[in-house]
Amino acid sequence: MTNMCPTKTPMPEQDPNVRNKNFAEVASGYTVEMALDEAARCLNCKNHPCMSGCPVNVPIPRFIEQVVKGDFEEAYKIITTASSLPAVCGRVCPQEAQCESKCVRGIKGESVGIGRLERFVADYHLQHADENIEKPVSNGHKAAVIGSGPAGLTCAGTLAKKGYAVTVFEAFHTAGGVLMYGIPEFRLPKAIVQKEISTLKKLGVDIKTNMVIGKVLSVDELLDDGFEAVFVGTGAGLPNFMGIEGEGLIGVYSANEFLTRINLMKAYKEEYDTPIIRPKNVAVVGGGNVAMDAARSALRLGAENVYIVYRRSEEEMPARNEEIHHAKEEGVIFKILSNPIKVIGDDEGKVTGLECVEMVLGEPDAGGRRRPAAKEGSNFVLNTDAVIIAIGNSPNPLIRTTTKGIEANAKGCIIVDEETMKTTKEGVYAGGDAVTGAATVIKAMGAGRNAAKSIDEYLSK
Ligand code: FAD
Ligand code: SF4
Ligand code: SF4
Repeated sequence: MTNMCPTKTPMPEQDPNVRNKNFAEVASGYTVEMALDEAARCLNCKNHPCMSGCPVNVPIPRFIEQVVKGDFEEAYKIITTASSLPAVCGRVCPQEAQCESKCVRGIKGESVGIGRLERFVADYHLQHADENIEKPVSNGHKAAVIGSGPAGLTCAGTLAKKGYAVTVFEAFHTAGGVLMYGIPEFRLPKAIVQKEISTLKKLGVDIKTNMVIGKVLSVDELLDDGFEAVFVGTGAGLPNFMGIEGEGLIGVYSANEFLTRINLMKAYKEEYDTPIIRPKNVAVVGGGNVAMDAARSALRLGAENVYIVYRRSEEEMPARNEEIHHAKEEGVIFKILSNPIKVIGDDEGKVTGLECVEMVLGEPDAGGRRRPAAKEGSNFVLNTDAVIIAIGNSPNPLIRTTTKGIEANAKGCIIVDEETMKTTKEGVYAGGDAVTGAATVIKAMGAGRNAAKSIDEYLSK
Protein backbone atom coordinates (compact mmCIF):
# COMPACT_ATOMS: atom_id res chain seq x y z
CA MET A 1 0.00 0.00 0.00
CA THR A 2 1.25 3.49 -0.85
CA ASN A 3 2.70 5.41 2.09
CA MET A 4 1.07 8.86 1.85
CA CYS A 5 3.24 10.48 4.53
CA PRO A 6 4.22 13.91 3.10
CA THR A 7 7.76 13.78 4.46
CA LYS A 8 10.69 11.45 3.77
CA THR A 9 11.38 8.62 6.18
CA PRO A 10 14.10 10.20 8.33
CA MET A 11 17.64 8.83 8.10
CA PRO A 12 19.48 8.48 11.42
CA GLU A 13 22.32 10.98 11.89
CA GLN A 14 25.00 11.58 14.51
CA ASP A 15 24.22 14.46 16.89
CA PRO A 16 25.81 17.67 15.49
CA ASN A 17 27.77 18.36 18.71
CA VAL A 18 29.22 14.87 18.64
CA ARG A 19 29.90 14.53 14.93
CA ASN A 20 31.72 17.90 14.65
CA LYS A 21 34.51 16.26 16.64
CA ASN A 22 34.85 13.04 14.65
CA PHE A 23 35.29 12.00 11.02
CA ALA A 24 32.76 9.12 11.07
CA GLU A 25 29.94 9.29 8.52
CA VAL A 26 27.23 11.81 9.47
CA ALA A 27 24.21 9.74 8.36
CA SER A 28 24.07 6.02 9.02
CA GLY A 29 21.70 5.02 6.20
CA TYR A 30 18.32 3.29 6.14
CA THR A 31 17.58 -0.02 7.80
CA VAL A 32 15.52 -2.55 5.76
CA GLU A 33 12.33 -1.37 7.51
CA MET A 34 13.07 2.31 6.76
CA ALA A 35 13.85 1.53 3.12
CA LEU A 36 10.58 -0.40 2.72
CA ASP A 37 8.71 2.49 4.32
CA GLU A 38 10.28 5.10 2.03
CA ALA A 39 9.97 2.97 -1.14
CA ALA A 40 6.22 2.70 -0.44
CA ARG A 41 5.97 6.49 -0.95
CA CYS A 42 6.75 6.07 -4.67
CA LEU A 43 3.68 6.24 -6.92
CA ASN A 44 5.43 4.33 -9.74
CA CYS A 45 4.41 7.10 -12.17
CA LYS A 46 3.95 5.91 -15.76
CA ASN A 47 5.80 8.90 -17.26
CA HIS A 48 8.51 8.77 -14.51
CA PRO A 49 9.38 12.51 -14.38
CA CYS A 50 12.10 11.79 -11.79
CA MET A 51 14.20 10.02 -14.44
CA SER A 52 14.42 13.17 -16.55
CA GLY A 53 16.22 14.85 -13.63
CA CYS A 54 18.93 12.20 -13.45
CA PRO A 55 21.91 12.92 -15.74
CA VAL A 56 22.34 9.19 -16.47
CA ASN A 57 18.63 8.21 -16.45
CA VAL A 58 18.65 5.66 -13.64
CA PRO A 59 15.36 3.67 -14.03
CA ILE A 60 14.10 5.05 -10.70
CA PRO A 61 10.52 3.67 -10.48
CA ARG A 62 11.70 0.21 -11.62
CA PHE A 63 14.39 -0.05 -8.95
CA ILE A 64 12.09 1.32 -6.24
CA GLU A 65 9.45 -1.25 -7.25
CA GLN A 66 11.97 -4.00 -6.49
CA VAL A 67 12.78 -2.40 -3.12
CA VAL A 68 9.04 -2.54 -2.31
CA LYS A 69 9.12 -6.28 -3.16
CA GLY A 70 12.20 -6.73 -0.94
CA ASP A 71 14.34 -7.87 -3.90
CA PHE A 72 17.29 -5.58 -3.20
CA GLU A 73 19.71 -7.44 -5.49
CA GLU A 74 17.34 -7.00 -8.45
CA ALA A 75 17.04 -3.30 -7.52
CA TYR A 76 20.87 -3.09 -7.57
CA LYS A 77 21.02 -4.72 -11.03
CA ILE A 78 18.51 -2.18 -12.35
CA ILE A 79 20.42 0.83 -10.94
CA THR A 80 23.75 -0.42 -12.30
CA THR A 81 22.40 -0.55 -15.86
CA ALA A 82 22.80 3.24 -15.70
CA SER A 83 25.14 4.11 -12.80
CA SER A 84 28.33 2.27 -11.95
CA LEU A 85 28.90 3.97 -8.58
CA PRO A 86 25.50 3.91 -6.79
CA ALA A 87 26.95 3.80 -3.24
CA VAL A 88 28.81 7.01 -4.09
CA CYS A 89 26.01 8.79 -6.00
CA GLY A 90 23.40 7.82 -3.39
CA ARG A 91 25.52 9.81 -0.93
CA VAL A 92 26.91 12.80 -2.85
CA CYS A 93 24.64 13.47 -5.87
CA PRO A 94 22.89 16.85 -5.59
CA GLN A 95 19.59 14.92 -5.67
CA GLU A 96 17.49 17.91 -4.61
CA ALA A 97 18.50 19.65 -7.85
CA GLN A 98 18.35 16.49 -10.00
CA CYS A 99 16.11 13.40 -9.73
CA GLU A 100 14.28 14.48 -6.58
CA SER A 101 13.51 17.95 -7.96
CA LYS A 102 11.23 16.30 -10.56
CA CYS A 103 9.44 13.85 -8.25
CA VAL A 104 5.67 14.43 -8.14
CA ARG A 105 5.58 13.70 -4.40
CA GLY A 106 7.58 16.91 -4.03
CA ILE A 107 4.59 19.02 -5.17
CA LYS A 108 2.61 18.64 -1.93
CA GLY A 109 5.37 17.58 0.42
CA GLU A 110 8.85 16.11 0.23
CA SER A 111 9.97 14.13 -2.79
CA VAL A 112 10.66 10.42 -2.50
CA GLY A 113 14.13 9.93 -0.95
CA ILE A 114 15.57 8.55 -4.19
CA GLY A 115 19.19 9.14 -3.15
CA ARG A 116 18.63 7.53 0.25
CA LEU A 117 17.05 4.47 -1.41
CA GLU A 118 19.87 4.25 -3.96
CA ARG A 119 22.41 4.37 -1.13
CA PHE A 120 20.48 1.67 0.79
CA VAL A 121 20.38 -0.69 -2.21
CA ALA A 122 24.08 -0.18 -2.99
CA ASP A 123 25.16 -0.64 0.65
CA TYR A 124 22.99 -3.76 0.92
CA HIS A 125 24.69 -5.15 -2.17
CA LEU A 126 28.18 -4.31 -0.88
CA GLN A 127 27.40 -6.10 2.39
CA HIS A 128 25.73 -9.18 0.95
CA ALA A 129 26.99 -9.68 -2.61
CA ASP A 130 28.95 -12.67 -3.76
CA GLU A 131 32.59 -11.57 -3.94
CA ASN A 132 33.37 -13.87 -6.89
CA ILE A 133 33.55 -11.66 -9.96
CA GLU A 134 34.37 -13.45 -13.16
CA LYS A 135 37.02 -11.81 -15.34
CA PRO A 136 35.49 -11.18 -18.78
CA VAL A 137 36.90 -13.03 -21.82
CA SER A 138 39.59 -10.91 -23.54
CA ASN A 139 38.67 -9.27 -26.85
CA GLY A 140 42.37 -8.69 -27.65
CA HIS A 141 42.25 -4.89 -27.46
CA LYS A 142 44.18 -2.60 -25.15
CA ALA A 143 43.12 0.83 -23.80
CA ALA A 144 44.67 3.35 -21.40
CA VAL A 145 42.81 5.57 -18.93
CA ILE A 146 44.52 8.62 -17.41
CA GLY A 147 43.12 9.59 -14.02
CA SER A 148 41.19 7.42 -11.57
CA GLY A 149 38.32 9.71 -10.54
CA PRO A 150 34.69 8.78 -11.31
CA ALA A 151 35.17 9.50 -15.04
CA GLY A 152 38.28 7.30 -15.38
CA LEU A 153 36.98 4.51 -13.14
CA THR A 154 33.68 4.30 -15.02
CA CYS A 155 35.38 4.31 -18.41
CA ALA A 156 37.81 1.61 -17.22
CA GLY A 157 35.06 -0.57 -15.72
CA THR A 158 32.80 -0.32 -18.77
CA LEU A 159 35.65 -1.27 -21.13
CA ALA A 160 36.89 -4.09 -18.88
CA LYS A 161 33.41 -5.65 -18.86
CA LYS A 162 33.60 -5.77 -22.66
CA GLY A 163 36.91 -7.68 -22.55
CA TYR A 164 39.40 -4.82 -23.03
CA ALA A 165 42.77 -4.96 -21.28
CA VAL A 166 42.62 -1.63 -19.43
CA THR A 167 45.45 0.14 -17.62
CA VAL A 168 44.63 3.16 -15.44
CA PHE A 169 47.46 5.64 -14.82
CA GLU A 170 47.00 7.75 -11.67
CA ALA A 171 49.25 10.60 -10.52
CA PHE A 172 48.57 10.15 -6.78
CA HIS A 173 49.63 7.14 -4.71
CA THR A 174 45.95 6.16 -4.24
CA ALA A 175 43.23 5.69 -6.86
CA GLY A 176 39.81 7.37 -6.63
CA GLY A 177 40.35 11.03 -7.59
CA VAL A 178 38.26 13.56 -5.66
CA LEU A 179 36.30 10.69 -4.10
CA MET A 180 39.48 9.86 -2.15
CA TYR A 181 41.36 13.12 -1.78
CA GLY A 182 38.57 15.73 -1.78
CA ILE A 183 35.23 14.59 -0.35
CA PRO A 184 35.79 13.94 3.38
CA GLU A 185 35.31 10.63 5.17
CA PHE A 186 32.27 11.97 7.10
CA ARG A 187 30.37 12.35 3.79
CA LEU A 188 31.83 9.48 1.80
CA PRO A 189 33.66 6.71 3.66
CA LYS A 190 36.83 5.77 1.80
CA ALA A 191 36.15 2.05 2.34
CA ILE A 192 33.20 2.38 -0.08
CA VAL A 193 35.38 3.90 -2.80
CA GLN A 194 38.06 1.27 -2.25
CA LYS A 195 35.46 -1.51 -2.55
CA GLU A 196 34.42 -0.13 -5.97
CA ILE A 197 38.09 -0.02 -6.98
CA SER A 198 38.69 -3.60 -5.82
CA THR A 199 35.74 -4.70 -8.02
CA LEU A 200 37.47 -3.07 -11.01
CA LYS A 201 40.69 -4.88 -10.21
CA LYS A 202 38.79 -8.19 -10.11
CA LEU A 203 37.50 -7.38 -13.59
CA GLY A 204 41.16 -7.25 -14.64
CA VAL A 205 41.77 -3.48 -14.64
CA ASP A 206 45.44 -2.75 -13.93
CA ILE A 207 45.84 0.44 -11.82
CA LYS A 208 49.27 2.05 -11.89
CA THR A 209 49.64 4.79 -9.25
CA ASN A 210 52.36 7.48 -8.93
CA MET A 211 52.22 7.83 -12.73
CA VAL A 212 51.93 11.47 -13.80
CA ILE A 213 51.16 11.28 -17.50
CA GLY A 214 52.80 14.22 -19.26
CA LYS A 215 55.86 13.78 -17.05
CA VAL A 216 56.66 10.07 -16.63
CA LEU A 217 55.10 9.09 -19.99
CA SER A 218 53.31 11.11 -22.65
CA VAL A 219 49.98 10.35 -24.32
CA ASP A 220 51.88 9.74 -27.59
CA GLU A 221 54.13 7.23 -25.87
CA LEU A 222 51.06 5.37 -24.60
CA LEU A 223 49.65 5.26 -28.15
CA ASP A 224 53.03 4.05 -29.48
CA ASP A 225 53.19 1.47 -26.72
CA GLY A 226 50.23 -0.55 -28.03
CA PHE A 227 47.34 1.25 -26.32
CA GLU A 228 44.83 1.60 -29.17
CA ALA A 229 42.78 4.30 -27.43
CA VAL A 230 43.38 6.68 -24.52
CA PHE A 231 40.77 8.24 -22.21
CA VAL A 232 41.75 11.44 -20.41
CA GLY A 233 39.87 11.85 -17.10
CA THR A 234 42.32 14.08 -15.27
CA GLY A 235 39.71 16.25 -13.54
CA ALA A 236 39.99 19.90 -12.51
CA GLY A 237 42.46 19.90 -9.67
CA LEU A 238 44.16 23.26 -10.24
CA PRO A 239 42.91 25.64 -7.52
CA ASN A 240 41.90 29.20 -8.34
CA PHE A 241 43.09 32.02 -6.08
CA MET A 242 41.71 35.52 -5.53
CA GLY A 243 44.85 37.47 -6.36
CA ILE A 244 44.63 39.58 -3.19
CA GLU A 245 47.48 40.78 -0.97
CA GLY A 246 48.78 38.21 1.53
CA GLU A 247 47.74 35.04 -0.33
CA GLY A 248 51.35 33.79 -0.07
CA LEU A 249 51.42 33.92 3.77
CA ILE A 250 51.95 30.81 5.92
CA GLY A 251 48.52 29.49 6.83
CA VAL A 252 46.83 30.17 3.48
CA TYR A 253 45.73 26.92 1.84
CA SER A 254 43.77 26.06 -1.24
CA ALA A 255 40.83 23.87 -0.16
CA ASN A 256 42.27 21.10 -2.35
CA GLU A 257 45.56 21.10 -0.46
CA PHE A 258 43.88 21.32 2.95
CA LEU A 259 41.48 18.46 2.14
CA THR A 260 44.22 16.33 0.52
CA ARG A 261 46.35 16.66 3.67
CA ILE A 262 43.37 15.55 5.75
CA ASN A 263 42.00 12.79 3.51
CA LEU A 264 44.92 11.32 1.58
CA MET A 265 47.70 12.18 4.04
CA LYS A 266 45.40 11.12 6.89
CA ALA A 267 45.70 14.23 9.09
CA TYR A 268 42.38 13.11 10.60
CA LYS A 269 44.09 10.16 12.28
CA GLU A 270 45.90 11.05 15.49
CA GLU A 271 48.60 8.43 14.90
CA TYR A 272 49.65 10.24 11.66
CA ASP A 273 52.14 13.12 11.89
CA THR A 274 50.78 14.92 8.79
CA PRO A 275 52.25 18.40 8.25
CA ILE A 276 49.19 20.65 8.56
CA ILE A 277 48.29 23.73 10.60
CA ARG A 278 45.54 22.89 13.08
CA PRO A 279 43.94 26.33 13.17
CA LYS A 280 41.97 27.64 16.14
CA ASN A 281 40.24 30.31 14.03
CA VAL A 282 39.82 29.81 10.32
CA ALA A 283 38.14 31.59 7.44
CA VAL A 284 37.03 29.53 4.45
CA VAL A 285 36.40 31.64 1.36
CA GLY A 286 33.67 30.34 -0.99
CA GLY A 287 30.11 28.98 -0.93
CA GLY A 288 30.25 25.61 -2.71
CA ASN A 289 30.47 22.00 -1.52
CA VAL A 290 34.24 22.30 -1.41
CA ALA A 291 34.02 25.25 0.99
CA MET A 292 31.54 23.39 3.25
CA ASP A 293 33.81 20.31 3.26
CA ALA A 294 36.84 22.40 4.20
CA ALA A 295 34.95 24.27 6.96
CA ARG A 296 33.46 21.11 8.46
CA SER A 297 36.85 19.36 8.29
CA ALA A 298 38.53 22.31 10.08
CA LEU A 299 35.99 21.97 12.92
CA ARG A 300 36.80 18.29 13.22
CA LEU A 301 40.53 19.06 13.39
CA GLY A 302 39.76 21.10 16.53
CA ALA A 303 39.11 24.66 15.28
CA GLU A 304 37.05 26.78 17.69
CA ASN A 305 35.72 29.38 15.22
CA VAL A 306 35.19 28.49 11.57
CA TYR A 307 33.83 31.18 9.24
CA ILE A 308 32.43 30.76 5.75
CA VAL A 309 33.11 34.01 3.91
CA TYR A 310 30.90 34.37 0.82
CA ARG A 311 30.39 37.48 -1.24
CA ARG A 312 26.81 36.82 -2.36
CA SER A 313 23.67 35.89 -0.37
CA GLU A 314 22.88 32.45 1.03
CA GLU A 315 20.28 31.73 -1.69
CA GLU A 316 23.06 31.99 -4.26
CA MET A 317 25.41 29.57 -2.53
CA PRO A 318 26.18 26.73 -4.94
CA ALA A 319 26.63 24.15 -2.13
CA ARG A 320 23.97 21.49 -1.61
CA ASN A 321 21.26 22.58 0.86
CA GLU A 322 22.06 19.53 2.96
CA GLU A 323 25.71 20.56 3.27
CA ILE A 324 24.81 24.13 4.29
CA HIS A 325 22.31 22.79 6.83
CA HIS A 326 24.85 20.32 8.27
CA ALA A 327 27.59 22.97 8.42
CA LYS A 328 25.31 25.34 10.36
CA GLU A 329 24.17 22.59 12.73
CA GLU A 330 27.81 21.78 13.45
CA GLY A 331 28.63 25.37 14.38
CA VAL A 332 30.16 26.91 11.22
CA ILE A 333 29.59 30.69 11.27
CA PHE A 334 28.30 32.16 7.97
CA LYS A 335 29.62 35.59 6.96
CA ILE A 336 27.58 36.13 3.83
CA LEU A 337 27.72 39.25 1.63
CA SER A 338 31.37 39.60 2.69
CA ASN A 339 34.30 39.82 0.33
CA PRO A 340 37.93 39.26 1.38
CA ILE A 341 40.30 42.03 0.31
CA LYS A 342 43.54 41.22 2.17
CA VAL A 343 45.13 38.42 4.18
CA ILE A 344 46.91 39.95 7.17
CA GLY A 345 50.14 38.46 8.56
CA ASP A 346 52.67 38.96 11.36
CA ASP A 347 56.44 39.57 11.19
CA GLU A 348 57.10 35.86 10.69
CA GLY A 349 54.85 35.77 7.64
CA LYS A 350 52.08 33.83 9.40
CA VAL A 351 48.38 34.57 8.91
CA THR A 352 46.75 36.59 11.72
CA GLY A 353 43.57 37.71 10.03
CA LEU A 354 41.42 38.29 6.97
CA GLU A 355 40.26 41.77 6.06
CA CYS A 356 36.86 41.79 4.36
CA VAL A 357 34.37 44.31 3.09
CA GLU A 358 30.57 44.02 3.30
CA MET A 359 28.72 43.66 0.00
CA VAL A 360 25.29 44.63 -1.30
CA LEU A 361 23.54 42.91 -4.21
CA GLY A 362 23.03 45.07 -7.26
CA GLU A 363 21.55 44.46 -10.73
CA PRO A 364 21.52 40.89 -12.18
CA ASP A 365 24.52 39.98 -14.38
CA ALA A 366 24.33 38.16 -17.75
CA GLY A 367 23.76 34.83 -15.92
CA GLY A 368 20.83 36.29 -13.93
CA ARG A 369 22.70 36.39 -10.60
CA ARG A 370 22.64 39.73 -8.79
CA ARG A 371 26.06 41.35 -8.97
CA PRO A 372 27.59 42.05 -5.53
CA ALA A 373 29.13 45.49 -4.95
CA ALA A 374 31.28 46.67 -2.03
CA LYS A 375 29.62 48.83 0.66
CA GLU A 376 31.84 51.84 1.23
CA GLY A 377 33.54 52.07 4.67
CA SER A 378 32.29 48.62 5.78
CA ASN A 379 35.71 46.98 6.19
CA PHE A 380 36.11 44.49 9.06
CA VAL A 381 38.76 41.98 10.14
CA LEU A 382 38.26 38.35 11.12
CA ASN A 383 41.05 37.22 13.45
CA THR A 384 42.19 33.91 12.03
CA ASP A 385 45.31 31.78 11.98
CA ALA A 386 44.42 30.14 8.66
CA VAL A 387 42.60 31.08 5.46
CA ILE A 388 41.32 28.39 3.11
CA ILE A 389 40.47 29.38 -0.44
CA ALA A 390 37.62 27.43 -2.05
CA ILE A 391 36.60 29.57 -5.01
CA GLY A 392 36.79 26.92 -7.72
CA ASN A 393 39.24 24.79 -9.66
CA SER A 394 40.40 24.62 -13.25
CA PRO A 395 41.70 21.67 -15.32
CA ASN A 396 45.44 21.04 -15.00
CA PRO A 397 47.15 21.95 -18.32
CA LEU A 398 49.76 19.15 -18.20
CA ILE A 399 48.17 16.69 -20.66
CA ARG A 400 47.15 19.21 -23.31
CA THR A 401 50.45 21.08 -23.15
CA THR A 402 52.48 17.88 -23.55
CA THR A 403 50.32 16.33 -26.30
CA LYS A 404 50.18 17.69 -29.84
CA GLY A 405 46.68 17.81 -31.28
CA ILE A 406 44.57 18.02 -28.10
CA GLU A 407 42.74 21.34 -28.18
CA ALA A 408 41.26 23.19 -25.22
CA ASN A 409 38.99 26.22 -24.79
CA ALA A 410 39.92 29.53 -23.14
CA LYS A 411 39.21 28.07 -19.68
CA GLY A 412 41.64 25.20 -20.31
CA CYS A 413 38.87 22.58 -20.68
CA ILE A 414 39.64 19.88 -23.26
CA ILE A 415 37.37 20.20 -26.32
CA VAL A 416 35.38 17.05 -27.20
CA ASP A 417 32.50 16.03 -29.41
CA GLU A 418 29.69 16.02 -26.80
CA GLU A 419 28.18 12.78 -28.01
CA THR A 420 31.27 10.66 -28.59
CA MET A 421 33.70 12.36 -26.15
CA LYS A 422 36.32 12.30 -28.94
CA THR A 423 39.03 14.95 -28.57
CA THR A 424 40.64 16.65 -31.55
CA LYS A 425 43.33 13.93 -31.56
CA GLU A 426 42.64 10.55 -33.21
CA GLY A 427 42.21 7.73 -30.66
CA VAL A 428 42.09 10.10 -27.67
CA TYR A 429 38.86 10.64 -25.70
CA ALA A 430 38.19 12.80 -22.64
CA GLY A 431 35.46 13.42 -20.08
CA GLY A 432 34.58 14.57 -16.59
CA ASP A 433 35.88 17.78 -15.00
CA ALA A 434 38.82 17.91 -17.47
CA VAL A 435 36.18 18.71 -20.13
CA THR A 436 33.41 20.51 -18.22
CA GLY A 437 35.43 22.25 -15.51
CA ALA A 438 34.47 21.50 -11.88
CA ALA A 439 31.07 19.71 -12.01
CA THR A 440 29.59 16.61 -10.34
CA VAL A 441 30.40 12.95 -9.76
CA ILE A 442 27.41 11.70 -11.71
CA LYS A 443 28.23 13.89 -14.73
CA ALA A 444 31.84 12.65 -14.72
CA MET A 445 30.62 9.08 -14.46
CA GLY A 446 28.18 9.55 -17.36
CA ALA A 447 30.99 11.01 -19.51
CA GLY A 448 33.26 8.05 -18.70
CA ARG A 449 30.52 5.64 -19.73
CA ASN A 450 29.81 7.49 -23.00
CA ALA A 451 33.51 7.57 -23.84
CA ALA A 452 33.84 3.82 -23.22
CA LYS A 453 30.94 3.22 -25.62
CA SER A 454 32.65 5.33 -28.31
CA ILE A 455 36.04 3.68 -27.75
CA ASP A 456 34.35 0.29 -28.16
CA GLU A 457 32.72 1.40 -31.42
CA TYR A 458 36.05 2.83 -32.65
CA LEU A 459 38.05 -0.31 -31.87
CA SER A 460 35.42 -2.81 -33.03
CA LYS A 461 35.36 -1.38 -36.56
P1 FAD B 1 38.72 13.73 -10.48
O1 FAD B 1 37.79 13.11 -9.47
O2 FAD B 1 39.31 15.04 -10.16
O3 FAD B 1 39.85 12.70 -10.81
C1 FAD B 1 40.91 13.01 -11.66
C2 FAD B 1 42.10 12.13 -11.32
O4 FAD B 1 43.10 12.31 -12.33
C3 FAD B 1 42.77 12.49 -10.01
O5 FAD B 1 42.92 11.33 -9.22
C4 FAD B 1 44.11 13.08 -10.41
O6 FAD B 1 45.14 12.81 -9.46
C5 FAD B 1 44.37 12.35 -11.72
N1 FAD B 1 45.28 13.06 -12.61
C6 FAD B 1 45.31 14.39 -12.92
N2 FAD B 1 46.28 14.65 -13.80
C7 FAD B 1 46.90 13.47 -14.07
C8 FAD B 1 47.98 13.10 -14.90
N3 FAD B 1 48.63 14.01 -15.64
N4 FAD B 1 48.37 11.81 -14.92
C9 FAD B 1 47.72 10.88 -14.18
N5 FAD B 1 46.67 11.17 -13.36
C10 FAD B 1 46.26 12.45 -13.31
N6 FAD B 1 30.39 16.34 -6.77
C11 FAD B 1 29.19 15.86 -6.43
O7 FAD B 1 28.49 15.34 -7.29
N7 FAD B 1 28.74 15.92 -5.15
C12 FAD B 1 29.50 16.42 -4.13
O8 FAD B 1 29.06 16.45 -2.99
C13 FAD B 1 30.79 16.91 -4.45
N8 FAD B 1 31.62 17.37 -3.49
C14 FAD B 1 32.89 17.76 -3.81
C15 FAD B 1 33.75 18.12 -2.78
C16 FAD B 1 35.07 18.45 -3.09
C17 FAD B 1 35.99 18.82 -1.96
C18 FAD B 1 35.50 18.49 -4.44
C19 FAD B 1 36.91 18.90 -4.76
C20 FAD B 1 34.64 18.15 -5.46
C21 FAD B 1 33.33 17.75 -5.16
N9 FAD B 1 32.45 17.35 -6.14
C22 FAD B 1 31.21 16.87 -5.81
C23 FAD B 1 32.83 17.35 -7.56
C24 FAD B 1 33.23 15.96 -8.04
O9 FAD B 1 34.01 15.31 -7.06
C25 FAD B 1 33.97 16.05 -9.36
O10 FAD B 1 33.10 16.68 -10.29
C26 FAD B 1 34.35 14.67 -9.89
O11 FAD B 1 35.18 13.98 -8.97
C27 FAD B 1 35.07 14.78 -11.23
O12 FAD B 1 35.50 13.52 -11.62
P2 FAD B 1 36.73 13.30 -12.62
O13 FAD B 1 36.89 11.83 -12.75
O14 FAD B 1 36.51 14.11 -13.84
O15 FAD B 1 38.00 13.95 -11.90
FE1 SF4 C 1 19.41 10.67 -8.48
FE2 SF4 C 1 22.08 10.71 -8.71
FE3 SF4 C 1 20.81 8.39 -8.50
FE4 SF4 C 1 20.56 9.83 -10.74
S1 SF4 C 1 22.42 8.86 -9.95
S2 SF4 C 1 18.92 8.79 -9.61
S3 SF4 C 1 20.59 11.91 -9.90
S4 SF4 C 1 20.90 9.98 -6.94
FE1 SF4 D 1 8.22 7.61 -7.78
FE2 SF4 D 1 8.53 10.28 -7.61
FE3 SF4 D 1 9.48 8.99 -9.69
FE4 SF4 D 1 6.83 9.21 -9.39
S1 SF4 D 1 8.28 10.88 -9.77
S2 SF4 D 1 7.99 7.37 -10.00
S3 SF4 D 1 6.67 9.12 -7.16
S4 SF4 D 1 10.13 8.72 -7.56
